[in-house]
Amino acid sequence: MTFADLRGRGAGAFEPPRALYLHVPFCSTRCAYCDFHSFGAGASSPAQRAAYADALVVRAGELVDAFSDRVDTVFIGGGTPTALEDEAFGTLLAGVAAICARKGHSPPLEWSVEANPESLTPAKLSMMAAAGVTRLSIGVQSMDDAELRTLGRGARHADNMRAMELALRSGLAVSADLMTALPRPTSGGAAPASSLEATALALAASGVGHLSIYDLVVEEGTRVAELLERGELRRADEDSSLRERTAAEAALKRLGFGRYEVSNYALPGSECAHNQAYWSMRSYLGAGSGAVSTLIVADSAAASALGARGGLSLRVEEGRNLGAWLEDPDAAAETTWISAKDSAFEMAMMGLRTARGLDLRRFGARFGAFLGEAEPGGKAPRLFAPAIERWKDRFTEADGFLRLDGEGLDLLNPILVDLLSAMDSWA
Ligand code: SF4
Repeated sequence: MTFADLRGRGAGAFEPPRALYLHVPFCSTRCAYCDFHSFGAGASSPAQRAAYADALVVRAGELVDAFSDRVDTVFIGGGTPTALEDEAFGTLLAGVAAICARKGHSPPLEWSVEANPESLTPAKLSMMAAAGVTRLSIGVQSMDDAELRTLGRGARHADNMRAMELALRSGLAVSADLMTALPRPTSGGAAPASSLEATALALAASGVGHLSIYDLVVEEGTRVAELLERGELRRADEDSSLRERTAAEAALKRLGFGRYEVSNYALPGSECAHNQAYWSMRSYLGAGSGAVSTLIVADSAAASALGARGGLSLRVEEGRNLGAWLEDPDAAAETTWISAKDSAFEMAMMGLRTARGLDLRRFGARFGAFLGEAEPGGKAPRLFAPAIERWKDRFTEADGFLRLDGEGLDLLNPILVDLLSAMDSWA
């Protein structure tokens, strides 16, 4: 069954998605570590970017009309949405507002837009505020020029400062992305002018209510991977990266920030609501070249009629071929039914990333019958017991949630490996 057929007949089989992501795969320049679906400015023309914005509005509308009962949260990410020309950016904002108006709220309860410092202008900020955008997520990454050069970022310290000042004056909630575990040049290279801790503190003190701190992951085929291979860069030392994060986290805690997800810190009430849909394994929609939707099966019989064969969620990948997507997004889309076992692991993995933890009642309702525990009553399934026993100092089970403490979040990967092998006994 093609995705076009599914769109026509499938809505009743799934929990209605209320989180909408739109992907804009254009950037001013390509970063040296980037493995995302994105193109530097020279790889497309203003006319192509305008055509993409038009097509993206149409696609998002089709998906929402087919599957959603209302849109609560919107996240426009990329790429760099603010790399679009003003006219195309305006088309996109107006289109999203109209889609939300057809489905309940306009503007949505939370509407985030990603921006990079070099393309964040007063004009774009005014357009966002007028359209109903509530939250800006700015890719700062570092405040040190040498680090920014290593990362191949388009912005420097001065650009980051200018963008943060503009953003904070706009009245929108502001989040900043920072990076840790950065590789260093093998020859020379002074210590960074601003440590992760100092940068996080300065941003938090200036009015940023949300910070995402990601470890740089070296992806094959990127410029950073090539420089590491040639010996011009050396990898970050894991222990010192963890020490850096721990120091930044302690400083943020003193300012009232909580670590509510493995990479995310926020003042109370400033957490990103959109991302909760991913972490709690709710249905969500992703429109655009490179975007992904996940639709959670609500009615197994209806899903079987669509070809699910026992699958408990449907993944729809819009593909990473911009030309093919522009020609026909339905034809570019690939659909995969995710088995009960894989869906269960995904849900556990996503839930355990968060301080709130894995919702055991919802987990039991979705997978209890497969586990032979039809009424698990908010208790961790027996299947998890070996992994929980091995990491018993890190796990807590209370109020129907299974969660990891702060040290457990830092050890998430080995814990998940144990959880996955504990799940091997799932037939
Ligand atoms: S801004 Fe983001 S998406 Fe664009 S090139 Fe840099 S890392 Fe990639």
